[in-house]
Amino acid sequence: MPYFIDVIVPIPLQKLFTYSITPAESHFLKTGMRVAVPFGKSKIYTGIVAQIHTNPPTAYEAKEIHQILDEGPLVNEKQLQLWQWIAHYYMCTVGDVMRAALPNAFLLESETIITKNTKTIDESMLEDDEFLVYEALQHQPSLKIHDIANILDKKNVLPVIKRLIEKGVISVEEEVYEKYKPKLVRYVKLHARFSSQTALQKLLEDLSRAPKQHQVILTLFSVSATTKKPVRVSDLSKDSDASVSIIKSLIDKGILEEYFIQTDRVQYSGDDNEDSKNLNDYQKKALTEIKESFKEQSVVLLHGVTSSGKTEVYVKLIEDALNKGQQVLYLLPEIALTAQLITRLQNYFGEQVSVFHSKYSSYERVEVWNNVLNNSAKAQIVLGARSSIFLPFDHLGLIIVDEEHEQSFKQFDPAPRYHARDTAIVLAQMHQAKTLLGSATPSLESYFNAKQNKYGFVEITKRFNDVLMPDIELVDIKEKQKKKLMKGHFSDRLLEEMAQTLRDGHQIILFQNRRGFSPIVECNTCGHAPQCPNCDVSLTYHQYRDQLRCHYCGYAEMMPKNCAACGSPELDSKGFGTEQIEQEVKVLFPDYKVARMDLDTTRGKYGYEKIITALEQQEIDILVGTQMLTKGLDFRNVKLVGIMNADNMLNFPDFRAHERSFQLMLQVSGRAGRTEERGKVLIQTYNPLHTILQQVSTNNYIEMFNEQMNDRYNYKYPPVFKQIKITLKHKDYVKVDTASIWYAKSLRNVFGDFVLGPESPPIARIRNQFHKNILVKIPKNQSLSKTKEAIIKINNSFLSIKDFRSVKVILNVDNY
Ligand code: ADP
Ligand code: ZN
Ligand code: ZN
Repeated sequence: MPYFIDVIVPIPLQKLFTYSITPAESHFLKTGMRVAVPFGKSKIYTGIVAQIHTNPPTAYEAKEIHQILDEGPLVNEKQLQLWQWIAHYYMCTVGDVMRAALPNAFLLESETIITKNTKTIDESMLEDDEFLVYEALQHQPSLKIHDIANILDKKNVLPVIKRLIEKGVISVEEEVYEKYKPKLVRYVKLHARFSSQTALQKLLEDLSRAPKQHQVILTLFSVSATTKKPVRVSDLSKDSDASVSIIKSLIDKGILEEYFIQTDRVQYSGDDNEDSKNLNDYQKKALTEIKESFKEQSVVLLHGVTSSGKTEVYVKLIEDALNKGQQVLYLLPEIALTAQLITRLQNYFGEQVSVFHSKYSSYERVEVWNNVLNNSAKAQIVLGARSSIFLPFDHLGLIIVDEEHEQSFKQFDPAPRYHARDTAIVLAQMHQAKTLLGSATPSLESYFNAKQNKYGFVEITKRFNDVLMPDIELVDIKEKQKKKLMKGHFSDRLLEEMAQTLRDGHQIILFQNRRGFSPIVECNTCGHAPQCPNCDVSLTYHQYRDQLRCHYCGYAEMMPKNCAACGSPELDSKGFGTEQIEQEVKVLFPDYKVARMDLDTTRGKYGYEKIITALEQQEIDILVGTQMLTKGLDFRNVKLVGIMNADNMLNFPDFRAHERSFQLMLQVSGRAGRTEERGKVLIQTYNPLHTILQQVSTNNYIEMFNEQMNDRYNYKYPPVFKQIKITLKHKDYVKVDTASIWYAKSLRNVFGDFVLGPESPPIARIRNQFHKNILVKIPKNQSLSKTKEAIIKINNSFLSIKDFRSVKVILNVDNY
């Protein structure tokens, strides 16, 4: 009997390809194993076996496979099931999912570039063909797979390459990420014995015959008097003109005390594990409620204010799961995956924690994959960003999605356009595992689901140690401008608070949303920003037509000459960024160290880590940054947070702008005063009466939720309606315009008024491609899968129209 396999290849094909195999191969092969298969005229791909059967394809003659690449499955049944779910739910191909799911090193294909690893290896370990490749790489920096085929004079070289990767000899080309180890900075202070005036006097007398040491103490005294910041050994040495060994002798005598800044970032030493902390009453109550809730619900939302100790609650749940022999996945947004948190978990769980991070090298990612696949002790807890949902878990017991409101859990480009939180919930269900969503500012959809009893719901309303929530003050900059109390973008109130904070030796974070660059029209006199009459969004200025337009309903008007609210002719398209703020601060506070954290300054290899370390070690007094600052960082000495302009977030043309502004502002505020002293937050705005700002200043999540949900009902937005965005792209505007009108019309025949558009996005042309968007809104009582079927049908007819064939169509389910 002839045998066949259906193979998933990592390219967007609607159907799986069928290949023929020998009976012997059919006995050996299992689903989830890799095979090298020929494709097209001369290409070779790595594919995954999805099915083994005896039905020949009807439309074509099945080709033979090249080679079997694995001894056992690399991908398990549950993963294949998850891939299918993602492809179906997010309307993409299984090939798209495969490409996102597997580390690159598993996807060898003819164009893959191979490089040598730097580590030295024992050449005697290598077989002859392996040695030939190894030797060739001594003479050239990289090789393509087909070069290797020439060197070895055979076609099927993938098994050799695979063995070389496993032996750590070669890597598949990628940027290699070295782990960043911050250097430890030494600080000194005078021993507490000398804190009184008389004791100090006595000390200086005693040292009168050691002038150098005497000078060191005097210098330390005067430096500490002017700045209240810690004094580094290196600075003290420089300022007192004394060598480090003189300072050392004072330390040895017990006159000076040496110390390092206490942070959570102690490098994990591999020593005995720390015991987890005893929970306080609020945490205990939350833990009990979560466990109770898990008896009935598979998903629970934990709404705990910033710094309430959510992480310690997670730790207890992780301990429980491990005791039951279950695997744990701890999902975080990429940028919140800091050394701080990694070390914190390693201190509890030691070697059982694996980290899966897009910045890790391909080799490290393969290692984590294999550890999870083999259920090795090293990978019982995986701490990872979005893509770690694709790891080969076999018996997950718990998934934690921390900062569940974060937008970066959604992948926007390329396909699969999945949401890692939502996919994690599906993954957990496949394992009959539990999912805990955690946030200080839950997304509306999760809170909505909790209210509908789809999820369990647990709260912690108190910060750990009863640290007070920061004191939030709104500053009316319209008023300040009128009274000429602004210096650049700084109000007198903000400047006062900054000066005081710096005098006290504390640090400051200034937040300026990067999105402020988007062209929003704002009145210089009253701050009014024109709104769409049909939707709850600000209009966007389109220079090329001198129009204001709504991106959601297509409403457009000519750019007005005067402000509709106050009549002033001073209408401006606005936007100021972090860079400008940084410059102003440097002029206003020339004696203090200012740094900036945004996409531009963190692009370098350890840009982000370096800035965080500098802030922790108090080398930075004032940090200016974008929303990067909002992510779960724990800075003990930051006492003041300034939000430069709340309005440009609030006016962002997106139906979630208000929800996201609330989340952003509360998350940044959460950085202030995480220890005993109460932190202060100043929010500058033209509209201090804006309901969102009032809700932020009173930390009133529920009011925000209720009000926003009202709008979502009224304007048919998620989570009340589901939505699918269809984007058409083409370099010819007329073509994409005609095509999108055809597409939208066909959709309207089926869905009527629930279709919006076609509409040009704010940036109508990207990389020479014109875009058009169509939005399909789906009421709760309408079947989602039927809706998708109808869209696919329309899509197929669209693609069969010759004229439209070159138009690219992108389907984005839950595009928000
Ligand atoms: P969240 O994740 O809710 O923002 P964290 O878990 O980071 O809060 O806790 C805030 C701070 O309080 C951390 O420094 C943490 O170490 C400390 N903390 C929380 N719970 C406890 C506890 N039960 N015992 C001791 N320290 C705790
Ligand atoms: Zn005005
Ligand atoms: Zn509108």
